[in-house]
Amino acid sequence: MAVLVIAEHDNTSVKDATNKVVTAAKAMGGDVDVLVAGSNAGAAAAAAAKIDGVRKVLHADGATLAKQMAEPMEALIAPLMSGYDAVLFPATTTGKNAAPRVAAKLDVMQVSGVIGIEGADTFVRPIYAGNAIITVKDSQPKKVLVVQATAFKAAGNSGSASVETTAAPAGPFKSAFVSEEMAKSDRPELTAAKRIVSGGRALGSSEEFHRVLDPLADKLGAAVGASRAAVDAGYAPNDYQVGQTGKVVAPELYVAIGISGAIQHLAGMKDSKVIVAINKDEEAPIFQIADYGLVGDYKTIVPELMDELTKA
Ligand code: FAD
Repeated sequence: MAVLVIAEHDNTSVKDATNKVVTAAKAMGGDVDVLVAGSNAGAAAAAAAKIDGVRKVLHADGATLAKQMAEPMEALIAPLMSGYDAVLFPATTTGKNAAPRVAAKLDVMQVSGVIGIEGADTFVRPIYAGNAIITVKDSQPKKVLVVQATAFKAAGNSGSASVETTAAPAGPFKSAFVSEEMAKSDRPELTAAKRIVSGGRALGSSEEFHRVLDPLADKLGAAVGASRAAVDAGYAPNDYQVGQTGKVVAPELYVAIGISGAIQHLAGMKDSKVIVAINKDEEAPIFQIADYGLVGDYKTIVPELMDELTKA
């Protein structure tokens, strides 16, 4: 049994999601290799080699891999799969983009949103927006898994695997990278944040959203998230969205302000360790999963909370 983990990285360092997917891969048994595909990504490959339990790192470097787009990633990964039984992608933007293309090329179905590994072919994943958990047995010859990294503990960084170079695909490909607009923030990245403050439709405008949430997030050293209603209404950018069609998070603290707790929102945050909900409707479903529920107007409660945090 040999498993290939696709690293999430920024060419210089490896993201925590990679260490977590390595833990998932180890639970399948067998050897675990990590693929670092990028451009000038030597530092990331060296960092991946330190992850505990990794046999070797495959490092593919080239201009075609600079943005890790689906086409070159598939052209790289699909041929490598002759030497592997399974490939595991983190459920990140990049991973979710490339995995289906690799699965199609290998003519297998991918298993998405994996939150548990019970062996080499048995995987646990949520269905019906997290309302039920299913255990699936995958008997396909090659397995393509998209792993919900937040469900696994990160492997440590005291390993010393070898790094092997593998050729980057030459291209050209049908799609080309044109440009990107990156949201700049000094706050922690949402999926890796230990604390998250999230706002919903109740905030009413973009100005109010930032007026209320930003100082609280700064005070707590938290990332800012949002419900889909808040994103759709333009109060918060798309990449803030938490939920079934947004990001899945599991911080130590999740503060939901003016969010009702629709099942699609809960699917993205219900595994948070401590959930605090502020809502003026005591019947709001968010209170069913909240550890601390504050019933009232956020306009009163958030300033009180800020005062208490300042005193603390
Ligand atoms: P609302 O449901 O309108 O709730 C607003 C809450 O604010 C209410 O509970 C109200 O009591 C409270 N409130 C109002 N004023 C105040 C005040 N002054 N002080 C305190 N509380 C106040 N949603 C997501 O969030 N993420 C997803 O990924 C997602 N994916 C979806 C996918 C599909 C296929 C579908 C169909 C829906 C999806 N949704 C998702 C939408 C989801 O169903 C809800 O519509 C959405 O989560 C509601 O957002 P909300 O809680 O901010 O708004």
